[in-house]
Amino acid sequence: MKVFVASLATETNTFSPVPTDRASFQTAFYAAPGQHPITPTLCSAAFTVLRKRAVAEDFELIEGTATWAEPGGLVQRQTYEALRDEILDQLRAALPVDAVVLGLHGAMVAQGYEDCEGDLAERVRQIAGQSAVIGATFDPHSHLTPQRVANLDILNAFLEFPHTDFVERAEQMVDLVLRTVRGEIKPVISVFDCRMIDVLPTSQQPMRGFIDSLKALEHQSPVLSASLIHGFLAGDVPEMGARIVIVTDNEKEFSEKIAHQKGMELFALRGKTRMTQHSIADALITTRHLLADDISQPIVLADIWDNPGGGVAGDGTLILEALLNTGMDDIAVATIWDPIAVTFCHAAGEGARIQLRFGGKSGPGAGNPIDATVIVLKAVSEAWESFGKSRVPLGPSAVVRIEGTHIDIILNTNRTQTFDPDIFSGIGIDIKTKKILVIKSTNHFYAAFKQVASAILYVDAGTHYPSDARRTDYRKLTRPLWPIVENPHETSSARPKPQTLPS
Ligand SMILES: [Zn+2]
Repeated sequence: MKVFVASLATETNTFSPVPTDRASFQTAFYAAPGQHPITPTLCSAAFTVLRKRAVAEDFELIEGTATWAEPGGLVQRQTYEALRDEILDQLRAALPVDAVVLGLHGAMVAQGYEDCEGDLAERVRQIAGQSAVIGATFDPHSHLTPQRVANLDILNAFLEFPHTDFVERAEQMVDLVLRTVRGEIKPVISVFDCRMIDVLPTSQQPMRGFIDSLKALEHQSPVLSASLIHGFLAGDVPEMGARIVIVTDNEKEFSEKIAHQKGMELFALRGKTRMTQHSIADALITTRHLLADDISQPIVLADIWDNPGGGVAGDGTLILEALLNTGMDDIAVATIWDPIAVTFCHAAGEGARIQLRFGGKSGPGAGNPIDATVIVLKAVSEAWESFGKSRVPLGPSAVVRIEGTHIDIILNTNRTQTFDPDIFSGIGIDIKTKKILVIKSTNHFYAAFKQVASAILYVDAGTHYPSDARRTDYRKLTRPLWPIVENPHETSSARPKPQTLPS
C-alpha cells in the first residue's frame, strides 16, 4: 500500500486588510517533503499519525509539503497556485498511490478562487484516479462545498471548539482511509445544510451536549464519522454556513436521515450558543467588582474579535486604551502585532526608555495607535507559545512597560492569537503579579487560561470584524441563512434536502 499526504491550510477573512502571500505561509509554518516536525500542527496532524501507522503496518508513506498561513485576507493568486501545483507535482511523482490524505482548513479563498480546497480536491482526484481513496480533515470554521464532497471519499472536522481534538480527528480520518483501502468499509457521505451561521463554542452548553451527541453517534453502527461544520462568518463565499456531515458504511439512506435530524437539532439551538459578551464599559465595571474581592488569580479580558486567528491584524488597542483611561494597574497584554514597534525596541535595546507609538496601524476600526513613554523590558529574536502539543512562533518580539506603571505589553511580528498562558511566562512576564490579562482570541484560549484565571470575560470591543451576519455586507452568499433571514428553511421554494454524493 502507498499513501500520499499533504497539507495546505489557512483561514481567509475576505474582509481583512492583511493580504496573504507566500511569505505568510513561510513565516507561520512551512515543511518541505520529509521536513515535517515530529509534533503535529492543527491542520497537519495526519502526517505524524500516518508516520506511526506506516511503521506499525508496513506501508509506504510519501510525504508532500505541509504549510499553514496565519489567518488573513485574500490569498494572492500566484501563492495559492504555486503551493497547489507544488503538492500536485509531488503527488504525480508518487503515483500510483492507493490513498491521499489531505490536511486542510477549509476556509481558504484566493484571488480568483472562492473554493481553494474544492479546486485542490478535484485536481488531486484527477491525478490520483477514481480508484484512489481520498480523505481530508477540516477545521469546522470552514465552508463545505459540493465540489469538495464530490471529490473526497471521506471527510471529517474537529469536533471541539477550542480545537483540542485535532490529533484524534486526524487519527480517525487516517484509520477510515486505511480501512477503505483494505476493503473493510465503503464510506458514503451525507451533508445537511443547516442554513445558519453562529458562534458555536463547545466549552459550554448547549453546544457541549450537541457535540457529545455527535460523538455518541460515532459509536453506533453504521456511522463511521459525524462532524459539524460551523461555517466561517468572515468568509464571503456562496457556501458559507453550518453543515452536518455524516459518513456511514454504505448506508446512504441512514446517513441522510441522521444528517437531516442532527442538522435541524442544531438549527433549533440558533441564537442560544454564543458566549456572553461584554462591551468594554461593562467588562471594566465587572472587573472592578471582581478585583474588590481580593482574588488570587488574574481576570482575563478576551478581545474576542480582534483575533488574528480570525484573519484580522491583531493590533487593536481599544481595551488597553480604556484600561489606561481608568488608571488600573498590574496588567499584561498578549499581544499587539506591530513589527515597526518591535524593530524600534530591538534597536533601542533591553532597558532602554523610549517614546513609542504602537498598535492601531493596520486600518480603521481597531482603535488608535498608543503613544507612550515605555521601558523595553525584553527584546527577543523569537518568542513563542503553546497550542496543545504544538508550538506557535511569535517571531521577533518585545515586552514594553508603560513608564510609571506595571502595565506590560507583548509586541510581536508573527500575527497569532493567544492560546496559552506560557505566552507570558515564555517572555518573562509573571502572571501571578498581574491582576488583569488582556488577550486576543475568540475561544481557543479558554482551555488553557481557565486554569490560571479567577474569571474570564469575553469582550466585544466593537472592532470591524464581521461578527454579526445581520450587519455584514455579504456579496457572494446566495442561500438564505439565519440570522440574515428568520426562517431560511421555509423561504426557499422547496424544503432543502441533504446533499448526498456517492463515494
Ligand atoms: Zn477553527
